[in-house]
Amino acid sequence: MTPFTYVSRPARIIFGAGSLERLAEELDELGIRRALVLATPEQRFLADRVRKLGGERCVEVFDRAVMHVPVETAQAGVEAARNIEADGLIAAGGGSTLGLAKAIALETSLPIVAVPTTYAGSEVTPIYGLTSGNEKKTGKSYRVLPRTVIYDASLTLTLPVGLSATSGLNAIAHAAEGLYAQDANPVMSMFAEEGIRALAQSLPALIANAGDLAARERAQYGAWLCGTVLGNVGMALHHKLCHTLGGSFNLPHAETHAVVLAYAMAFNLPAVPEASERLARALATDDPAAALYDLARRLGAPASLAALGVTAADLDVAAEIAMRAPYFNPRPLSQRAIRHLLQLAYDGARPGRNSFEGF
Ligand code: NAD
Repeated sequence: MTPFTYVSRPARIIFGAGSLERLAEELDELGIRRALVLATPEQRFLADRVRKLGGERCVEVFDRAVMHVPVETAQAGVEAARNIEADGLIAAGGGSTLGLAKAIALETSLPIVAVPTTYAGSEVTPIYGLTSGNEKKTGKSYRVLPRTVIYDASLTLTLPVGLSATSGLNAIAHAAEGLYAQDANPVMSMFAEEGIRALAQSLPALIANAGDLAARERAQYGAWLCGTVLGNVGMALHHKLCHTLGGSFNLPHAETHAVVLAYAMAFNLPAVPEASERLARALATDDPAAALYDLARRLGAPASLAALGVTAADLDVAAEIAMRAPYFNPRPLSQRAIRHLLQLAYDGARPGRNSFEGF
C-alpha cells in the first residue's frame, strides 16, 4: 500500500430528520450558555426557531450572513458576539452562514454549532474565506472547525431543487478530487466513494420530488462524507479552475463546480487508475467523466461555461491565470491542455475517455 498519514479530528455529528430538537442538550454538552445565532436574512425564520429551541442559551440572532463573507459583515458579527458576551455561535444555514460563523470564530475562538441546510459541506472543514473589496482570501484554521454538527434533513426540504442539484454536485467534486489528492489516505477515499454513491443515487430522486425526505437524508449523508474529505485532504485542478473562473469572472460558486467537474475528471482520471476505479464503482459506470456529465444534465444543472456568462474571449485569459501559480495535480498540466478543457466546458460537450488524448 502507499504510505499515508491520517489524523482524526473530533467532531460530534448528530444525524437524523428532526434532530434539531436536540439543540438544547447539545449546547449543554459544549457548555454554551450565551449563544449568538447566525443566519441569512432569508432564513431568519430558522434562526428564530433555533433561538426558541435553545431557550435562554440563545441570546440574540444576527441575520446578516451574505455570500462570500465581506470583512465588514464579519466585523459586525464579531461586535454582535462581543456585545452579548457570547460563549458560542450557532450557524443555521448554508455555506454563506457557516462562512460568517467561521470568520467570527477566527477572531474570537468561539465554538461553533452548525445546523447545515444545503449540501455544501463547509460545516466539516477548517477552511474559511473572507472578501475584501473584490478579493477573496481563503485560509485554514482548526479554530473555525465546528464542534458539533446537527444534520436535520427536514430543514433541507425547502432548499430549491436547482440549489440542491448544484450544491450536491459541488459536494461530489470535493470527494472526487479527494480520491487522488497528494495527501490522500484510504479512510478518506472510503468516505469519498460512499459519499459520491449516496449523492449520485439520491439527487435524481429529490429533483423528481423535492419533498422526498428519505432522498434528502441520503443526500445529506453524502454531503457530510464529501465535506469531510474536503476538510481532510488537498484538492487539485478542478478546485483550482473553479476558484480561478469564479474569482476572475464573478461566476456563481456551485454552478461553476457543476459545469467543470466532468471535464476535470476526463483530464485527470487516465493518470489515476485507482481513483478512477473507485469513482466508477460509486457511479455504477465504466466511464466516470461521462457519467458525471450525464448526472448533471439529469439534474438540470447549467450545461456549459457559456450558460454561466463566460465569453469565448475569456478562455485564453482563464487558461493563462490558471497556470500562473503552480499547484499539485496528478497529471502534469500545460496551458494548452487547460485551454482545451475550458473550450469543452464552454461548449458543454459530453466528455469521453479520449477527450484529452495527445495532451
Ligand atoms: P448559501 O449558503 O450561499 O445559500 C444560498 C441561499 O439559499 C441563501 O439565501 C440561503 O439563505 C438559502 N438557503 C440555504 N438553505 C436553504 C434551505 N434549506 N431552504 C431555503 N433556502 C435555503 O449556499 P451554499 O451553496 O450552501 O454555500 C455557498 C458558499 O459556501 C460559497 O461562498 C462557498 O465558497 C462556501 N463553501 C465553503 C466551504 C468551506 O469548506 N469553507 C465548502 C463549500 C462551500
